[in-house]
Amino acid sequence: EAASHSNFIKQRIDADLAKGTYAQRRWAGEPGLAADQAKGDIDPAKIRTRFPPEPNGYLHIGHAKSICLNFGLAEEYGGICHMRFDDTNPEKEEQEFVDGILESVHWLGFHWGKDDKNLYFASDYFQWMYDFAVKLIENDLAYVDSQSAELMAFNRGSFQEPGRDSPFRGRSIAENLKLFEEMRDGKHADGAHILRAKIDMASPNINMRDPALYRVKNAEHHRTGKKWHIYPMYSYAHPIEDALENITHSLCTLEFEDQRIFYDWVIEKIASFGLLQRPLPQQIEFARLNLGYTVMSKRYLKQLVDEGHVEGWDDPRMPTIVGMRRRGYPPAAIRLFMERAGVSKAHQWIDPSVLEDCVREVLNETAPRRFAVLDPLKLVITNYPAGQSEESTAPNHPQKPELGTRTLPFSGELWIEREDFQEVAPPKYFRLFPGNTVRLKYGYVVKCTGFKKDDAGNVVEVQCEYMPDSKSGTPGADAYKVKGVIHWVCAKSALKSKVVMYDRLFKVENPGKDSKSYLDDLNRDSAKTIEAYLEPSLGAATGKEGFQFERHGYFRHDQYKFIRTCTLRDSWGVRS
Ligand code: ATP
Ligand code: MG
Ligand code: MG
Repeated sequence: EAASHSNFIKQRIDADLAKGTYAQRRWAGEPGLAADQAKGDIDPAKIRTRFPPEPNGYLHIGHAKSICLNFGLAEEYGGICHMRFDDTNPEKEEQEFVDGILESVHWLGFHWGKDDKNLYFASDYFQWMYDFAVKLIENDLAYVDSQSAELMAFNRGSFQEPGRDSPFRGRSIAENLKLFEEMRDGKHADGAHILRAKIDMASPNINMRDPALYRVKNAEHHRTGKKWHIYPMYSYAHPIEDALENITHSLCTLEFEDQRIFYDWVIEKIASFGLLQRPLPQQIEFARLNLGYTVMSKRYLKQLVDEGHVEGWDDPRMPTIVGMRRRGYPPAAIRLFMERAGVSKAHQWIDPSVLEDCVREVLNETAPRRFAVLDPLKLVITNYPAGQSEESTAPNHPQKPELGTRTLPFSGELWIEREDFQEVAPPKYFRLFPGNTVRLKYGYVVKCTGFKKDDAGNVVEVQCEYMPDSKSGTPGADAYKVKGVIHWVCAKSALKSKVVMYDRLFKVENPGKDSKSYLDDLNRDSAKTIEAYLEPSLGAATGKEGFQFERHGYFRHDQYKFIRTCTLRDSWGVRS
């Protein structure tokens, strides 16, 4: 399955490599210095992809798809994937997000070229973009439009009717050049003018009806400061960024399919002036990843954070990379999920249980096992010598002796799970009930002799007798044949800890689809904190590794508590 998952993209790459499409590139003495020649090691025979986030938030699982695809293809073909910040939108961008994004990509296990040197910022190309725009104006391929935004939208027409030319479309080249320069120098207010490509207001593709290239925005940019008063539109900037970096295959999501014609227009025109090298990059679209029971747009994620619906971008319920990391999802599980989800041209809605299965699969291999009692009931061993205690040895992983062992203290008072005792046993119940015998895993066989209730009728203590010659691992212990095995922790040495159990953040698969706002579909009860008793070795947990609490699921230590990463099995269908 892994091999076929990005077939249609690989076929394109294979065909280009077979034809030597990108091997024809010449480097020395070309006009329009490529941005990336400065970084050295150009090998024209190799493919180049890029991951181009806007630094206006933290990355989410949808971005992880693009990361795994772009970096994954570069790895597979021995090419390079550029890490590029598409920072052409001054107001929403911040250094905090730049740092957060880089850390998330690293955490997923990817690097951008040797020593991470292939790091780029679209804002570094502002001068090039400006110069190219001037060239377009000089060639009568762009003009300054001064219609109001409303009028401009109205005159763009619709799918049914062609657009109408702006009254400013006939401006002279000299006037356009002068106005554009003034816009750059901050002599005009936001929204006063726009630079538009001069293509065809009657084009059946609305994206070709004189699309905007530049807008006036008298705003400070997180990297270029107050230098610029105009900023390029995404659809103009992106193809230029790709071409300057000698990207070969520019992968983007399906919404951009209709814009491919303009992507090609921009770089074709600029290359025709001799300012970009051929062959030019090609845009290839693939379907977005959508995960059920969550939202993925950065705008929504930011609102969840800003309005305090979650603890922050790294809340373990968030579909962000930092959230999943904190939740305890291993990066290998996210990569496995992307392989399974595949890459297609059709829209993808994937159930979160597919991702959770990947998390379980990876953690099952690596996570040390531990005992934790989440709903405690006291078990008293009436024939165990008062004041005595001893130790049991338990493997960290039943199938992996190389992961070593840990020590479990044992005494006459233990905590067991409330559900492991029944006053009257239902059919096929093999755990504790009066008269029945079970094994305390890695400890002794015990026989239930009685129990105590409080005034309200709740069982508060279970009593039993142990068989001194039944300790696991000692000669003769196997002679005891019992059907039930339960886990436990020693009441004297147990670690009392808060444990947070998470439920889905949204109650419905597609939040907002059948409600006024996606916020109406929030599950207001998605985090439940309980007090649990843990085996004492968990006191040394650092949060770096995940544990399997036997019979309960996978858990990770996080700021004076444990949080549940996921259950042992997919339990969404059988919730009580
Ligand atoms: P959002 O608003 O949801 O955060 P975006 O596309 O505005 O998404 P960018 O930072 O511009 O966010 O995206 C960086 C890259 O990640 C783009 O190439 C984009 O196509 C890709 N990407 C974003 N969301 C998804 C998704 N759900 N599935 C696949 N790729 C995605
Ligand atoms: Mg975007
Ligand atoms: Mg977006």
